[in-house]
Amino acid sequence: MTNKNNHDGEGNTSHHIQQRPIVNSIKQSLQKIFPDLGVDNKSLDHPSGKNYNIAAKFLTGTLAFYTTSFFSQLLQYKVFKMSTGTRPAVLPIMMGGATVMVGSAVGHLSGVGVQACWNREGVNDVGRLRMGIEAMRKSVVGMKYIFEREDTLTRAEKRERREVWFHFAGVCILGLLTYKTILRSHFTSLSPSSYTARGSFARIGIPAPSNFNYATSSQRSQLERIGRTWGCHTCGSRMFFSNLSKRDWNKPRFHGDHIPPVSVAKQLNERWYRKKFGWKVSQKFYPQCRDCSNKQGGLLSKAIHAGHRNLRSVGGGEESYFHGGRLRIGHLTGGVVAVSTVGLGTEPGVVEDSRQHVRALWVSVVNAAKDLSDRVWSW
Ligand SMILES: [Zn+2]
Repeated sequence: MTNKNNHDGEGNTSHHIQQRPIVNSIKQSLQKIFPDLGVDNKSLDHPSGKNYNIAAKFLTGTLAFYTTSFFSQLLQYKVFKMSTGTRPAVLPIMMGGATVMVGSAVGHLSGVGVQACWNREGVNDVGRLRMGIEAMRKSVVGMKYIFEREDTLTRAEKRERREVWFHFAGVCILGLLTYKTILRSHFTSLSPSSYTARGSFARIGIPAPSNFNYATSSQRSQLERIGRTWGCHTCGSRMFFSNLSKRDWNKPRFHGDHIPPVSVAKQLNERWYRKKFGWKVSQKFYPQCRDCSNKQGGLLSKAIHAGHRNLRSVGGGEESYFHGGRLRIGHLTGGVVAVSTVGLGTEPGVVEDSRQHVRALWVSVVNAAKDLSDRVWSW
């Protein structure tokens, strides 16, 4: 008789890393939203098996999200010619939101696949792989009913259609919540960086004076601190190695970049409606590395020389900075979704189990909503 039901280790974490807000936020939110994370381990017989299972789902989910966001950014870069500077500004935000939703759904599916081929005694690798793929197929197959005529569907098919869409809507919204509130990421982080707009890596900016002056020395030291923490707002580089050869660790590594750049702001201020109503473009400083600053300067002076009428669009599209291959904290969304929306049951029943899991998560999310509401949509 093994009747150990130890519930230890519940409230004794998250008191010692106060200076790391993101790590803290992840820990606290995970504990609040997913208190029952992997409690049902009956089918995974030895204790470390459960940890391996969770780690495997987390890794494949993260990889699935990473791959999704890589291809999303490639699509934006090559096909849609989009960047963080694309107008109206809601376009890159919507593109980012859609990427997070697809990435979450794919992350969830990869978790279902891992779970279905887990711990199969007496089945070879090919057979396990086939079981994983079959479970993933079973998980989405009901979606096709939306393309079929209502009167050709049986009652069971209609129920399956409703379940599968409800389920994936839940998975996507959980992904969005994870991305925004737990991992505190921006949707525009998933677009290529425009050289003349707020870049994908921008976190904190400092309001710039309206006289187009450069940053003051106190603003520059503030920007230097922001840059060393979050990196260049365009390419994300923290410039760790920039001054190594000179052995001067304290030499500034970042420029205070006007966003929008001065020439862009001046051109915008000349538009008739801005002149008529006296609207001035407001600018902010963001830390930018030397390479990106030079690139921006080159692109703009070439465009000004050519008499470009809309300088704001310079440095976007194919001129923007592609960073799809870089790992971002937001990619962990796929891992969090894969672990939290797939149970520990085995086949047959992984798909039904994951649906129940999402339903149960909804209850937890609603309960946690009050706590989270002040962090939501904080961009
Ligand atoms: Zn840079």
